[in-house]
Amino acid sequence: MAASLPYPALHASHAGVWAATSDGQTRGLGRGEAIRLAADTPVLLLNAPLIGQRLGHPELNGLDLLELFAFVHPARFVVPTPGGLARALGLEPPAHDQDVPALLRAAAAALLVRCQSPDWAEREGAWTSAQSLYRLRWMWGAPLMEHVAKPKEAERWLFSRLPEWEEGAPRPSPRPVVLEEAQVADRLRTLTGAGAEERHGQRAYATAAMRAFAPRDARDEPNMLLAEAGTGIGKTLGYLAPASLWAEQANGAVWVSTYTKALQRQLGHESERLFPDEAERRARIVTRKGRENYLCLLNLEDALQGGFQGRAAILGHLVARWAAYSADGDMVGGDLPGWLPTLFRRNGSTALTDRRGECVYAGCPHYRRCFIERAARASVHADIVIANHALVMVNAARGREAAGRPTRFVFDEGHHLFDAADSTFATALSGAETIELRRWVTGPEGRSRGRRRGLAARLSDVASYDEEGGRAISAAVAAAQMLPSDSWLQRLHEGAPFGPIETLLAAARGLVFARDAKAEDAGYGLEAELAEPDAALVEASGPAAEALDQLLRPLVVLGRRLEALLTDGPDWMDGQARARIEGAIASLGWRADLVGGWLALLARIGGPADPDFVDWLAVDRVEGREYDVGLHRRWLDPTRPLAELVLKPAHGVLVTSATLTGGGDTDVAESLTGAHHLARPASHFTVPSPFDYASQSEVLIVTDIKRGDLPALANAYGRLILAAQGGTLGLFTAIRRLRSVHTRIADRLAREGLPLYAQHVDPIDTGTLIDIFRDDPRASLLGTDALRDGVDVPGHSLRLVVMEGVPWPKPTVLHAARRLANGGAAHDDRIIRARLAQAFGRLVRRADDHGAFVLLSAAMPSRLLSAFPDGTPISRVTLDEAVARIAKPPLSALEAAELLARG
Ligand code: SF4
Repeated sequence: MAASLPYPALHASHAGVWAATSDGQTRGLGRGEAIRLAADTPVLLLNAPLIGQRLGHPELNGLDLLELFAFVHPARFVVPTPGGLARALGLEPPAHDQDVPALLRAAAAALLVRCQSPDWAEREGAWTSAQSLYRLRWMWGAPLMEHVAKPKEAERWLFSRLPEWEEGAPRPSPRPVVLEEAQVADRLRTLTGAGAEERHGQRAYATAAMRAFAPRDARDEPNMLLAEAGTGIGKTLGYLAPASLWAEQANGAVWVSTYTKALQRQLGHESERLFPDEAERRARIVTRKGRENYLCLLNLEDALQGGFQGRAAILGHLVARWAAYSADGDMVGGDLPGWLPTLFRRNGSTALTDRRGECVYAGCPHYRRCFIERAARASVHADIVIANHALVMVNAARGREAAGRPTRFVFDEGHHLFDAADSTFATALSGAETIELRRWVTGPEGRSRGRRRGLAARLSDVASYDEEGGRAISAAVAAAQMLPSDSWLQRLHEGAPFGPIETLLAAARGLVFARDAKAEDAGYGLEAELAEPDAALVEASGPAAEALDQLLRPLVVLGRRLEALLTDGPDWMDGQARARIEGAIASLGWRADLVGGWLALLARIGGPADPDFVDWLAVDRVEGREYDVGLHRRWLDPTRPLAELVLKPAHGVLVTSATLTGGGDTDVAESLTGAHHLARPASHFTVPSPFDYASQSEVLIVTDIKRGDLPALANAYGRLILAAQGGTLGLFTAIRRLRSVHTRIADRLAREGLPLYAQHVDPIDTGTLIDIFRDDPRASLLGTDALRDGVDVPGHSLRLVVMEGVPWPKPTVLHAARRLANGGAAHDDRIIRARLAQAFGRLVRRADDHGAFVLLSAAMPSRLLSAFPDGTPISRVTLDEAVARIAKPPLSALEAAELLARG
């Protein structure tokens, strides 16, 4: 059947708006006309929220090609741009914006025709799913009903299609083995490939990395190596060589931990060389993330059975299509397209994961097919577990999976260990946190639908069997009524808080507004030191502590009762019930720790400060709108709990990064990683980058843009991007300035054929923005911190980095305390140098990369220039001179395509 659709197609960029009618004619139109067209008739479009934003009409909807793609090819990667879609479907990418509407019509036809092809790989489940989506009035429902044939036999439903995990025998402790240098060198050669030239730096690195795998001599004294390897050394394969060899010989697992999802994904690809056979690879290399990343099948079932309404229900069905084909059920950075939840304005996607720890473990009908349980079990028997810093620390802190506790760790992106520990070991007694705890204990409030249940329902069998346990559950539910509930923030604004915790938060808010000098600005977060509290806060702290204590006590009692049940269990206590109770003990334990932390923080009000911690009050705001109010506590040195909980129990730890020492200072590396808290000193290793920075890069410090002059800043970005013909990463330290620059230059650049994307502006997740940037050599991307070191774009797509100024640390209460404790201005310099080094590090990712780093700063202190690699040419220039140095002849579409093909 021909798949021609009778609908017009619509496209909008910063350069204009175009529509193609069903007879194939394309014409330009105004924004108002485009909005009327979309309101009168269904239109084909690509990424409705983005097009809506460009038309100034965010609610715009239509037949979105991305939604159709997600249905036809679930779990398949596509860059969500016209060019990306064209390439994924084997169509000609559009050369100009005005060619896009015709492409959208061709792409819709191609996708629908694919549904009729006998080779359609994702056919199973499609007919059943299309039926449900049609009933939900999904706009693609009717066209799909015409193209997806009814299967001859009933289709397997999602939950029966997923494999069940097997319980394996516990793994014995790893054997003590000593690796031999020649074996490691052999393994490295195998990994790099027969034809690869021998890289001495990489070989020296792999040899040094062996130290982390030697047997440990004394308890609490791991073999720790801090290894700085300049960009381009090939450190991933450098450490995978000894790690994989050790895993094989010792029969143990090595946990390789990263900070960014980008590196986690890259590690997944690089480790393919270890086990070319896919089945073996799946068994031996496992990726682990926090449980809040994975789809919870019970939540999905709930959503499909009426828990979700309207657009959220449509998302639920598209996620179900994906789940049946997903490799691991990871919804954040896995094979669920990052753009899919944003098409639904993030409506519903977070409710599909187990964010609030409501898992009922073996009490769940999908337990044996659960993605989270499958990943946890697979990692016990794996050789290499790819994880992230936060998960490693949370597992250690909460004592989960203690039986198979890893003994060998590689922390890549090790310069982030400090930050990861800082947030993992933080305490926040805030409205958002307390309401979350209330819901975990009592279940949802009001008319919420679905299966979300409180403690009483989750443990109803325990309550009926064990009287004391039952009483503890009732007492916890009663005590939780004193925690903040829905609309708490509104009550604070109205001066009518309910209960002791809301009263405490109201007092904290009052004090912040009284003391933060920025309180009059309509802007972002406000804070105040938790020192010299006023009478209102002191008076509120007593009843608040009492209320929390009332809650803590029954939680502790309940935990003890559950433990007693496990040792002296009744007849109905089979293996599954035990697993469920073990799960409940673990989640009760960390809630009790949470409340204990809050109580310690409250004890500080009006009392002496604890020198180990920094405490403050904060009101979180975005553009003047308040989101949360709370009391906060951080470790002055968060590597202390890191050393206690993660490093000391380990036998070997390798911490590695391209920027670990902040320019050659080993003390910096020691204090960033917690090594200085260990009795046995860490060893150090450094190998410089093999890149020739003198000929591959230059640093231009532009001295004639005045700080605070927004029009001049925007003009500088515009001229530099134009001179480089795109391929620019623009970095900002403030969202406000980023938005303002974007607004001033996006249209102008689009008219030159240079698309400009931006974090905090475009309704697209950061991972997808980077994919789009990587895919189009003429595109540029503006962003903040996450882009400073989460971007790995080798090749021509990234050839210019522009930073809006010297990245001074934000003058927060926390920063002021750490500055005071760590040498004052020298502390700031270390932070700035690290940020500059990370930002510069985006530029040259491989031997044939070239590019310029521009810093827009009239007053860049010379002492900070050591942040850049030795030999990098550095000049102070005017904007005109910088533009002249960077200027490139315009890139034709053909050249852009060729560059892209070359990577
Ligand atoms: S076992 Fe827990 S996380 Fe897994 S599907 Fe069931 S409720 Fe969700």
